[in-house]
Amino acid sequence: MELAKRVQSLTPSSTLAITAKAKALKNEGLDVIGLGAGEPDFNTPKFILDAAYKAMEEGKTKYTPSGGLPELKQAIANKFERDQGLTYHQDEIIVTTGAKHALFTLFQVLLNPGDEVIVPVPYWVSYPEQIKLAEGTPVFVEATEENEFKLTKEQVEQAITSRTKAIIINSPSNPTGVMYTKEELKAIGEVCLQHHVLMISDEIYEKLIYGDEEHTSIAQLSNDLKENTVIINGVSKSHSMTGWRIGYAAGPEKIIKAMTNLASHSTSNPTSIAQYAALAAYTGSDEEIEQMKEAFQERLEKLYEWIIDIPGISCVKPKGAFYLFPNAKEAAIGCGFESVDDWVKALLEEELVALVPGSGFGSADNVRLSYATSLDQLEEAAKRIKRFVNKHS
Ligand code: PLP
Repeated sequence: MELAKRVQSLTPSSTLAITAKAKALKNEGLDVIGLGAGEPDFNTPKFILDAAYKAMEEGKTKYTPSGGLPELKQAIANKFERDQGLTYHQDEIIVTTGAKHALFTLFQVLLNPGDEVIVPVPYWVSYPEQIKLAEGTPVFVEATEENEFKLTKEQVEQAITSRTKAIIINSPSNPTGVMYTKEELKAIGEVCLQHHVLMISDEIYEKLIYGDEEHTSIAQLSNDLKENTVIINGVSKSHSMTGWRIGYAAGPEKIIKAMTNLASHSTSNPTSIAQYAALAAYTGSDEEIEQMKEAFQERLEKLYEWIIDIPGISCVKPKGAFYLFPNAKEAAIGCGFESVDDWVKALLEEELVALVPGSGFGSADNVRLSYATSLDQLEEAAKRIKRFVNKHS
């Protein structure tokens, strides 16, 4: 039987593919170091586990409203007010089965066939596929390494056509870890307002920012910008809760209402128990989040130094998330490989270090390293990569 056209061109997630290959080698008993992970390596904090357990014991195991528990929506609204000074009412928020499904639902309610969404390259792997699944057209615009992987307002202006419906802003970014400044966001925001382009601000790494940098949401910069932005966020990365699948979107009521209608016919609601866990996350102490952040920062500082010390590798220093996205083209060519993809493959086979090739993110010269693993493992991985490069040069 022939499958539907909409899934025939779907490409499987490249991050999951490399993780699966690394796992298979590990199962053969090999000492593989996987730097492909897109999730924190810490346990979910205990007070959150306790809240979920209590919810189960109290029988809170039934359907909830499709858009999420009112008390969780209120806790999310309070978080917006507290952290970003943004006021959202409950009918401007939907709780979803992870931030990924918030994005999926958003594209479904937003796009008609042929509508365009501007996607900065490098991009998180699911954006283009989700846009295509909604019969939209991803319009790729390359954010150059020279401009620290960030789009300029001129690039945005050039990419806008009469079909442009939205633009994605992911700051801090997966895979690059870079973050837009207030001024950069303001400039892009002005262009979007002029051309009636909705801003989709994916802020899933909002809590993982290092040094003195502070997170800015484009929605914070003016009331007009807020009214033309949908913020996407969730507890996966901030509270090490990837498996719980709780994310959310906040934005204009009309959009959120349509998303809630669609959710009522697809997921019904995000898992009730996980919603109680997320409620605890947003009403409890941030102490453990801070500890995780400190651990990530230490790893970033060290790994960055180790990586740029390898011949043929350069790297824009990230300000957030938990990834490095170095350019490895010179190293790959110097080692006699035709592409960075081939170099990554040989590195896994010979030195048992799993990186994610940048081609999956639209940047074939780069590789993504996740530092969501212990310092010891990171040090050993960097040593192996260096040995591999030296051996082949
Ligand atoms: N957005 C970005 C940029 C991500 O990296 C991820 C996860 O990897 C998500 C959204 C989705 O997060 P989740 O569905 O776990 O909430």
